[in-house]
Amino acid sequence: MRESPYITILGGGPAGLATGYFAKKYNLSYRIYEASQRTGGNAITLKHGDFRFDSGAHRFHDKDPEVTEEIMHLLGDELQKIEAPSQIYYEGNFIDFPLSPMDLLIKLGIPTFAKAGLELIAARLSKHQNNGSFENFAVRTYGSTIANRFLLNYTEKLWGFPSSTLSPLISGRRLKGLDLATFLREAFLGKRAKTAHLDGGFYYPKWGYGSIAERLAQACGAENIHTEARITRIMHRQGKIEAIEINAGERVPVDEVVSTLPLPILLRILDPEPEASILDLAKNLIFRNLILVVLFIDKERVSNNASIYFPDSQIPFTRIYEPKNRSAVMAPVGKTSLCIEVPCSPGDELWNGSDDALKSMVRTHLVALGIIREEEIIEDLVYRMRHAYPVLKLGVEEKIHSIYDYLEGFKNLKLSGRSGKFLYTHVHDMLRFGMDVVQEYLAVGETSDPIPDHR
Ligand SMILES: Cc1cc2nc3c(=O)[nH]c(=O)nc-3n(C[C@H](O)[C@H](O)[C@H](O)COP(=O)(O)OP(=O)(O)OC[C@H]3O[C@@H](n4cnc5c(N)ncnc54)[C@H](O)[C@@H]3O)c2cc1C
Repeated sequence: MRESPYITILGGGPAGLATGYFAKKYNLSYRIYEASQRTGGNAITLKHGDFRFDSGAHRFHDKDPEVTEEIMHLLGDELQKIEAPSQIYYEGNFIDFPLSPMDLLIKLGIPTFAKAGLELIAARLSKHQNNGSFENFAVRTYGSTIANRFLLNYTEKLWGFPSSTLSPLISGRRLKGLDLATFLREAFLGKRAKTAHLDGGFYYPKWGYGSIAERLAQACGAENIHTEARITRIMHRQGKIEAIEINAGERVPVDEVVSTLPLPILLRILDPEPEASILDLAKNLIFRNLILVVLFIDKERVSNNASIYFPDSQIPFTRIYEPKNRSAVMAPVGKTSLCIEVPCSPGDELWNGSDDALKSMVRTHLVALGIIREEEIIEDLVYRMRHAYPVLKLGVEEKIHSIYDYLEGFKNLKLSGRSGKFLYTHVHDMLRFGMDVVQEYLAVGETSDPIPDHR
């Protein structure tokens, strides 16, 4: 039996923190290296005066009971169950999201609804072959009227590629609930089915989503986290990572390594570098960035929605959310804020655009849509996020697996994280990855009971 490993964790987002958290729980030694000044990665809560807002519209997905229990334990009664609906804004109407037949009937009118219903039935009964793209999946699941209006334009705006070239994995399991039986039951019996697609309930931490990462970081302990430590090189020999280089200077020897760095970055900083075929595969790993324009508003509330989605391709943003509708403490009494998500690609006009141009573009659209009035805006700001979404194009899975196969050649390297594994995953998945990675170390080392918890 080997001695307990010393784990070097690259990246201090939720995935890196979760790995550290479980390592500590099982008494394994570790250190987290994070490039920026703070941990939490793309799942943080920012403060602006008396306002708080998250880096994108986050909610906790209660999908993995063991993870949910851990989060409940970490956050105690700060983890609140929120009931807030979400809607789609389409041609002047607010339509329930996820889509519900009864609501569609009311909002679309009988002729369009009947057409959409017949298309849906025809699409389900059709034996037509498809190429496995998101476009095919959406049309087959919803029929072309609904898919075109609500899903395909939205998808292309969010991911930056035609939906015929994207994998259905980009739906992130969100397109559940409008199965044919439910559709018919709701449409013809006039009943609103009590199914999972009425997605208004979710868990959310009282002080913002970033509390999850903050609590993980606290549990890890400041002594185990090294911020402002960008990994600039990973030195290896004979299938083993020997050392990491920090900020193009200090060289730190390593034992076991868990990388949550974006997968193409990991490949790029390997020294010696991988063979050309692997670097070529890495070129297929593209990320979408996200710009958040935040408006602080002199009004109690703009709407009661958790999120509002904008499929219209003429509108440059995909989604807005009002932090106050997730937790009342996110804005002072009598005021609110709106976070507007503008997806873009590294180096494109939006990403390179000035903050003023972005703010003005967003404000103009929201005012024109009648969602806010110009004079209600007290202040605004822009927050930019890299590596917001791994773009899952058709066929990317095989490329990722070839890259995984190559990296499996390193006996002391494990991968974790959304960008680190290049999977469209969420914070609960990061905790699951962390648990699993630590269990793998325990399985090959001495077994260890969790350290008694005195929180
Ligand atoms: C708009 C939006 C909405 C979302 N909504 C939800 C939601 O509702 N629910 C949910 O659970 N999840 C949601 N997510 C996903 C969630 O934010 C991610 O799953 C999570 O942030 C992934 O954590 P991670 O640690 O893998 O990566 P990240 O959060 O990206 O963290 C990676 C870390 O690595 C660091 N790093 C990068 N390069 C280096 C380097 N060279 N050296 C050292 N450190 C480095 C980065 O600075 C960063 O801190 C959403 C994401 C976005 C963008």
